[in-house]
Amino acid sequence: MEKNIVWQRALASRADRQKALRQRGAVLWLTGLSGSGKSTIATRVEKALIEGGRAAYLLDGDNLRHGLNGDLGFSPADRDENIRRIAEVAALFADAGMIVLVSAISPYRQTRSDARARVEKRAPFCEIYVKASVAACAARDPKGLYARAMRGEIAEFTGVSSPYEPPETPELTLDTERMSVDECVEAVLLAAQRLSIPYDALLRTAVSASLEAGRAIMEVYGRDFAVSYKADSSPLTEADTAADGLIAAALQRDFPGYALLSEERADDPARLGNPFCFIVDPLDGTKEFVKKNGEFTVNIALSYRGRSVMGVVYAPVLDELYFAAEGLGAFYCPAASKADDPIGTAEPIRVSDRHENLVMMLSRSHTDDETRALIEANRSRIAETRPAGSSLKGCLIARGAADLYYRNGPTMEWDTAAVQCVAEQAGAVFRQGDGSEMTYNRADSLNRKGFYIINAAQNQLRRL
Ligand code: ADP
Repeated sequence: MEKNIVWQRALASRADRQKALRQRGAVLWLTGLSGSGKSTIATRVEKALIEGGRAAYLLDGDNLRHGLNGDLGFSPADRDENIRRIAEVAALFADAGMIVLVSAISPYRQTRSDARARVEKRAPFCEIYVKASVAACAARDPKGLYARAMRGEIAEFTGVSSPYEPPETPELTLDTERMSVDECVEAVLLAAQRLSIPYDALLRTAVSASLEAGRAIMEVYGRDFAVSYKADSSPLTEADTAADGLIAAALQRDFPGYALLSEERADDPARLGNPFCFIVDPLDGTKEFVKKNGEFTVNIALSYRGRSVMGVVYAPVLDELYFAAEGLGAFYCPAASKADDPIGTAEPIRVSDRHENLVMMLSRSHTDDETRALIEANRSRIAETRPAGSSLKGCLIARGAADLYYRNGPTMEWDTAAVQCVAEQAGAVFRQGDGSEMTYNRADSLNRKGFYIINAAQNQLRRL
């Protein structure tokens, strides 16, 4: 390779591209025998994505053999080179922001795993096994190739005279002998939607909105302010209202297609029909704010089909920022308001690996008899209890500074959505009190069952 070549750095960032296209590039790689259904499914998915306003492109293995790969045959070495080139092109298209569908037999496991590695340097990769038996494919024989291969007219035909190695752990399997074309298309569309969530752009918007809200909150914190009380007797200050306005404006400006649920905003029930919903608590811990102990936070989350997939928690007085997104991990940035690039300089965080001498977080204002009984029943394992306000408790567990938090009483969706993502992406277990998954963007926003956050499943506390 030419050694006098210097990599030219782009001025446009990944987040810039994602914001412009309102999606993240991704590669959905369909592998399977000839006639299994790859092209039928991929062409329909491509059409549906384009019609839905998405930037998508199908790289069809057969079509590419007319141009880019026109010099290659079907020997194992040529098949490998064929896939290597397709993977490189797919990676570039995905880096440019496209949702790329690859339809290629890609018969060898190792070659597919190399393709994944090439793509994953730049974009997410989803292996989709389009499954059908040789007998079924030969019976369909859409291109008449099986008949010719079985007569010996085509050498090295996959499934007949050349091997096919099925994926062992594909992200998705489409059994085209059992599923209809429509069902297969729907499953791939769902995978494309999930994979193309523009996390870099989302985090940039949410982090900067949280810092901006933090500045507005600090302005109120530094002077006298009036406190009013809402119908549920929780306190409300100008800081809540100001922070809410700033956050909503930023989210709606950059992601107008996403719904928004905020503690301080009239609820729009249309959000229930949107797979994407921001869930915001502009000032979690208003009691702590009023008491001026500094333990309050700004919380911004994104829920996708009921799961919290992105979370940002910012504590303005401590100037500590936590953020996380599905597949990217969880991060911590101290002195966030002074950082030039809080996202770029944040450090990855993990839960602790402690299994004894556990540190248990307690609520500042809600410790009840049930919690006291829980501590009593697990005395030998808990070394210390530590009170803190707001979602900071879960963030401290995510950072490994504490290990457990049990909340028995009710909370609201916006109290838990952001911290759940931060905790889970840092390796913690987050469950409702009865052990079930917490879901989001619900008709009833009250979390009725309590919840717990623990650094490891085995550290679950014993209840009396
Ligand atoms: P490939 O691209 O994998 O070589 P094709 O899409 O060209 O396969 O051909 C698949 C054939 O199987 C088509 O004739 C299609 O109508 C038929 N078929 C039957 N059921 C399905 C299914 N569930 N998904 C995709 N194709 C199916």
